Amino acid sequence: MIELVCASANPDKVAEMAAVLDGVVKLQPRPAEMGEVVEDADSLEGNALLKARAVCEFAGVAALADDTGLEVDALGGAPGVYSARFAGPDASYGDNLARLLHELQGIAAPQRTARFRTVAVVYYPDGSALSAEGVVEGTILEASCGSGGFGYDPVFAPTESDGRSFAEMSSAAKHAVSHRGRALRALVKLLPKRF
Ligand code: IMP
Repeated sequence: MIELVCASANPDKVAEMAAVLDGVVKLQPRPAEMGEVVEDADSLEGNALLKARAVCEFAGVAALADDTGLEVDALGGAPGVYSARFAGPDASYGDNLARLLHELQGIAAPQRTARFRTVAVVYYPDGSALSAEGVVEGTILEASCGSGGFGYDPVFAPTESDGRSFAEMSSAAKHAVSHRGRALRALVKLLPKRF
């Protein structure tokens, strides 16, 4: 099986990456002694590349990173690449979610369209890289629903579901249509060309 070091430090994302890649890619944990990578690129691909390259150079083996943004149409595509810091530099998931619901107050359902976009990157020790994107369309609910998932999941209802939020769906149902599931499955298709 292909082995990659996981470049994400977010346990929620790591768990999802491992579940999506189960049986296809053996994900090794991010080196514990490695410091944080500053994600200061202005695109999802740029940030994914920064993380994958830093971990690859530290560990000396190929590394996998994903970077995700929530694009809300009524907010001109925000928070997008700034999704983790929407409510400020040290914002929690709850802070970001509260800011999102606040910004959308008074905006009716048809105008609450949004999408999650993930770019997944594998960076190799020879300096080459592969990347793939995954997108899921949906709407932002008026209040949090459900306790599964993480981040903005309680307010995001994918169009390809029955109105439930990602946080009300099983992990398998989320991964079947999610941005991350799609990006990682697309990336996996590219890997054999490289190994
Ligand atoms: P990151 O930059 O890829 O770590 O993700 C940015 C932010 O987007 C995270 O801090 C989460 O708040 C949010 N996020 C990423 N992936 C998901 C997801 O699958 N569901 C809900 N929120 C997510």
